[in-house]
Amino acid sequence: MSRAIYDIAIVGGGIAGCAAAIALAGGGRSAVMLAPPQDERDRFGEFLSPAANELLHKLGLAEAFRAGPHRPANATYTAWGSGSLVERNALMHVEGPGHVLDRPAFERLLRDAAERSGIAVLPKALDGAVHDGTMWSMQLVDGPEIAARFVLDCSGRTAVVARRYAVHRREDRLVAAGAFLRQRTDEVEPTPATLIEAVPEGWWYASLLPDRRLALVLFGDSDTLPRGLAHDTTAWRECVEATQYVRQWLDSAGFDSDVQPRLAGAATTWLDPVAGPGWAAAGDAAAAFNPLSSHGLTTALWGGRRAALAAVAALDGDAEPLESYAATVRRAVQDFLGQRQATYAREGRWPALPFWRRRHSR
Ligand SMILES: Cc1cc2nc3c(=O)[nH]c(=O)nc-3n(C[C@H](O)[C@H](O)[C@H](O)COP(=O)(O)OP(=O)(O)OC[C@H]3O[C@@H](n4cnc5c(N)ncnc54)[C@H](O)[C@@H]3O)c2cc1C
Repeated sequence: MSRAIYDIAIVGGGIAGCAAAIALAGGGRSAVMLAPPQDERDRFGEFLSPAANELLHKLGLAEAFRAGPHRPANATYTAWGSGSLVERNALMHVEGPGHVLDRPAFERLLRDAAERSGIAVLPKALDGAVHDGTMWSMQLVDGPEIAARFVLDCSGRTAVVARRYAVHRREDRLVAAGAFLRQRTDEVEPTPATLIEAVPEGWWYASLLPDRRLALVLFGDSDTLPRGLAHDTTAWRECVEATQYVRQWLDSAGFDSDVQPRLAGAATTWLDPVAGPGWAAAGDAAAAFNPLSSHGLTTALWGGRRAALAAVAALDGDAEPLESYAATVRRAVQDFLGQRQATYAREGRWPALPFWRRRHSR
């Protein structure tokens, strides 16, 4: 049986993959997006930085995005470097406000637009891909083999294709343990805010979602968090109890922390390089930033779009946009590593404890 041949194959139907698909719309190149079905669980990551507003505009999604149900993120409180709580107010940000997302709704918005873009969407995962110098042969899980001239790897942290063509670098072993909390009663109107609190074993992130649930995440290294945290509600409750401001917020708004947390990898990792002949990686596949930056979603939107446009240029014989894309990501990684170090250096209360000692000694 003859196999389908595409100019561009996008691996992954997440944020970067959908942004790439939308950017290819009407560009005259045949393309396919491999987008295996997602499980229905809530996903971590709901703060969309102000820089995303311009990208959503470029993708033609600004108006649909404004229709909601996301909420402007105006107030962030931090207890970092001292025991005092400091408010960072973002009401007057030049790029407009950041947003706290209804993440499933945001992903649906992108996916619907990707499907309308006219490219083929296959609900299949990639099993393996081989490049013969001009063409990729791609085997799908429980599916046919397809071929493509260019592969955009948007498969998230696994970087299923690009990882074999670049060096995979890792700065730390950050993991996240998190849960989505409901109020016990709806008598109290919870504060629409985000809170970051540093603690001896790492730091907490709490943010009120548009549906009034609280996203609550503890970030630490795998060996600084209590063992078996994902199966131990008591240990989770004890971690919450040991905080100052997170606990106060939960108590005052009546959030129920008696839930089982879930673990997720949150390390800072990147590929070197992020593009080569016939391929490019975008989003977390290219560089997964520590969520302290709150830039992963925006970078995925930016990278998916930029890498897709660079792929089209490369197929037209112009390699410069691809080189420029790779150089920009490399610079962004270096900038991020510098900011990351400066941010961790501002918290000096526990210099002898492993989580902080590791970050101060870089
Ligand atoms: C705990 C936590 C909190 C975070 N909080 C924030 C935040 O507040 N703000 C922010 O901006 N960022 C945050 N991030 C980061 C953000 O979630 C990511 O940067 C973003 O989701 C990256 O998008 P992506 O499209 O590159 O990858 P993903 O969203 O991971 O999408 C990858 C896609 O590839 C698909 N895929 C995987 N393997 C295959 C395969 N073999 N074949 C085909 N498809 C495949 C997957 O199904 C998935 O759909 C957070 C991350 C973590 C871990």
